[in-house]
Amino acid sequence: MTSLLRFPPNELEELLVSLEAPRYRADQVLRALYQGGCDSIDALIQLPRDLRERMKTAGLTVQLPVILREVVSDDGDTTKALLSLPSGPTVETVLMQYPRSGRGPRSTVCVSTQAGCAMGCVFCATGQMGFERNIPAEDVVAQVLHFQRLLALRGEHVTNVVFMGMGEPLANYEETLRAVRQLTDPRAFDLAQRAITVSTVGIPRAIDRLATENLQVGLAISLHAPDDALRRRLVPTARPNSIAELLDSGRRYFRTSGRRVSIEYALVGGVNDAPRHAQELGKLLRGSGMHVNLIPLNPTAGPFVAPSRRGVREFRRILTEAGVNATVRIEKGSEIAAACGQLRTDVDAASGRGSAAFPSPS
Ligand code: SAH
Ligand code: SF4
Repeated sequence: MTSLLRFPPNELEELLVSLEAPRYRADQVLRALYQGGCDSIDALIQLPRDLRERMKTAGLTVQLPVILREVVSDDGDTTKALLSLPSGPTVETVLMQYPRSGRGPRSTVCVSTQAGCAMGCVFCATGQMGFERNIPAEDVVAQVLHFQRLLALRGEHVTNVVFMGMGEPLANYEETLRAVRQLTDPRAFDLAQRAITVSTVGIPRAIDRLATENLQVGLAISLHAPDDALRRRLVPTARPNSIAELLDSGRRYFRTSGRRVSIEYALVGGVNDAPRHAQELGKLLRGSGMHVNLIPLNPTAGPFVAPSRRGVREFRRILTEAGVNATVRIEKGSEIAAACGQLRTDVDAASGRGSAAFPSPS
């Protein structure tokens, strides 16, 4: 069985032509999928019945996630859905809303690209689960559609998509790219490329490849440390000279795509949040044009603690003084465990997996 959500418009056209349908049928299907509420081949009532039958015989389906649980934050701005994806895994997908004056809210969907993650970042709940499997493009798209349809009921729509949920998007490169193309194709989901951000722990070759795709998507690199020794304690899979390599690939991405790269820095209390770390980071990034997002640690099963509020303010001040633009990410939904790094399945949480041990410095 293959979900129709897997096919970009040109492939869908070919597929329908191979089933002896005229090309224009593709646009009817695309509209029903992305603007309508179509949830099965039978619901495509715009199509002749015999075409629908041929589609089913060809193994085509419309598969949407099943909601296992949905939790809304106290302020109503964050909704976390535990979704059972058609391809098998259970993942968490989050909707974050920010009011905007004079128009509807900014509605950002944070999608998962893998169940678990092989990168093993010690402060990240997903990393501590280990790698389970890649999520196919159609199931990434389906996560966005899940919230799009919810929002449509109240006259709103998804305005942004961030690849910051479970998993490392660039370790599932082909499917991530396919999902980005579906989400931004004017005949499919039709989101602006600039409304998408891919966050990566940093695979330089994959970043370079992304730069050649002729896309305008934003790139966020999760750095977390100003020196390689400290970075490898936090990201055990990082290479010895990963920082230099990553900043180089970030600069190349900027040159090729014209999009500024942002740096994510999870502030872990007593580990990477000292003033000297801020000074070193400032030296490293001065003049790079890269913006830093400071993310105060969210509690996970591990032994790590959040930084103090004063420490965060001071860290930011030092960066700003060094000429590096920095903002502190306002965490949304931490009380419903939907903030960065807290995404994991309830099943795993219940089994007690995921306590992170901090490796001693190598
Ligand atoms: N794998 C990608 C995208 C998913 S993680 C990446 O690492 O960039 C998205 C962001 O959440 C990353 O910047 C990650 O470092 C951060 N993060 C993970 N666990 C966190 C935690 N417990 N507290 C705060 N940020 C966390
Ligand atoms: Fe994977 Fe990102 Fe978590 Fe690291 S922070 S383990 S790369 S999901």
